[in-house]
Amino acid sequence: MPRPVLLHSCCAPCSSAILEWLLQHDYAPTIFYFNPNIFPQEEYLVRKNECQRYAAKLGVPFVDGDYDHALWREAVKGLENEPERGARCRVCFGVRMLATARTAKRLGIESFTTTLAGSRWKRLEQIREAAEEAARLTPGTAYWDMNWRKGGLQQRRGELLKEEGFYNQLWCGCEFSMGHLALRPIEEIPVYAREFVLKLGGKPKEEEPQS
Ligand code: SF4
Repeated sequence: MPRPVLLHSCCAPCSSAILEWLLQHDYAPTIFYFNPNIFPQEEYLVRKNECQRYAAKLGVPFVDGDYDHALWREAVKGLENEPERGARCRVCFGVRMLATARTAKRLGIESFTTTLAGSRWKRLEQIREAAEEAARLTPGTAYWDMNWRKGGLQQRRGELLKEEGFYNQLWCGCEFSMGHLALRPIEEIPVYAREFVLKLGGKPKEEEPQS
């Protein structure tokens, strides 16, 4: 009998190799998509739709969490200027892990884990601390502390990214992780995020010379 697990998913590319591994190892994953940190909302919808489409392709149940960016902003208030991998990210993980643990409980799934633990850009100990705290606050649930970077899953993620033609995001999620986009040519930025990036100091596209 496959073992049920609730997989908090940040996006389709990060979920792909983990889902494949779970299905090959006799697990019955359910995806929980809950990422109110993502800005702007258009980017959130692109990432969510991609993940939902892939879940449907694999026949994996998909649970859609709410998107309330204003509430997320409240949670990280005062930490806006923290660098990536700093205190704001710890709070961000806390918000997402608590919702995941509560959803696991509601669905009667004891074990939960997260694709965040597969990203080499994030601090694993922050994710673990946030997830274990969420499990403590939600009796009847347990965090499955898997390091999803190992076992060749990073490489497989890259292969699936190409095979599936996934949308590959340029920033972690929140508006405070978008600063580096100002250094990229504006035409590489999704249309819905350009105005924001220009305000950060991005360079408008040069006009084509008229012939
Ligand atoms: S940089 Fe990423 S992990 Fe950190 S607060 Fe922003 S969205 Fe969350």
